[in-house]
Amino acid sequence: MLLSVVIPCYNEEDNVELFYDTIVHVFGNLMKDTELIFVNDGSRDETFRRLENIYKNSPYQIKVISFSRNFGKEAALLAGLQNSEGDLVSIIDADLQQRPEYILEMMSILNEHPEYDSVAAYQEERKEGRILSFFKNCFYKIINKMTEMEMVRSASDFRLLKRKVVDAICSMPEKCRFSKGIFSWVGFNTFYMPYQVEERANGVSKWSFWKLFVYAIDGIVAFSTVPLTVVSLAGILLCVLSGLFMVIIVVKTLIWGDPVAGFPTLASLVLFTSGIQLLCTGVIGHYLAKNYIETKDRPVYIVKDFLKK
Ligand code: UDP
Ligand code: MG
Repeated sequence: MLLSVVIPCYNEEDNVELFYDTIVHVFGNLMKDTELIFVNDGSRDETFRRLENIYKNSPYQIKVISFSRNFGKEAALLAGLQNSEGDLVSIIDADLQQRPEYILEMMSILNEHPEYDSVAAYQEERKEGRILSFFKNCFYKIINKMTEMEMVRSASDFRLLKRKVVDAICSMPEKCRFSKGIFSWVGFNTFYMPYQVEERANGVSKWSFWKLFVYAIDGIVAFSTVPLTVVSLAGILLCVLSGLFMVIIVVKTLIWGDPVAGFPTLASLVLFTSGIQLLCTGVIGHYLAKNYIETKDRPVYIVKDFLKK
């Protein structure tokens, strides 16, 4: 049985060799039945040269897929999965925050429990600030309410998948890919395994708060149309309220006949309604933009070099 390990790498020059040495050491004999698929996601440092070295000097099955520019981790994951040949496929980061030992644990879980089709690792104890944790909690609450899927909080891309799950994921043709959603959307039985996340071996994380925020919005747009419904409901509510308000103004003017007063009310109403309108246009625009990108049907990534043996 062949195991494929997909490793997305973006500016990981100080980590790839360390990662390779670690996985070879941890896997031992299993390396004979393992293919390592490094996806160089348009790194601007020496990552590709180091991967080339690993490829040339390694006795094991190695593939190096190198993109023409940075297409993002989602694209790197897709390229890795599409080019994997294993009966089992694992996804792991290159920075050693996720120890390769856990892949062995995931394999024994699938062996012992054949009813499961994949294993997803989740962080038992998150090493992040309270504010970030609060926003992440909110995101999972919102997305789970808005979609029919159950996205498990803290479940990462660190997974082991059976071939049928990989095929299902690759059969999804969308360009705006949100893996966390895709993993849930395809279904199958997933075992959630707790794991301890390590400190990054070298380098810095590529995720800023802003990037995470945009990613969260993209995730919601990719898997739910509830925001569009909310926008319509807001429109209806505003119509009803403004109708009531109109009646109040007319009655008030008829009784007291005071045509001049009311500027603050008027100003706040204009600002409020134009704000709501802009927000609604923005929500619709976001869906339209995603639709535009999907319709153009551009490839998710462009491969510049492909080393394979
Ligand atoms: N990564 C990638 N493309 C990107 C950003 C990240 O392939 O545009 C890879 C990165 O090299 C690492 C993994 O995705 O192997 C996770 O990234 P990172 O460690 O920055 O994320 P974090 O662990 O902080 O969530
Ligand atoms: Mg990391």
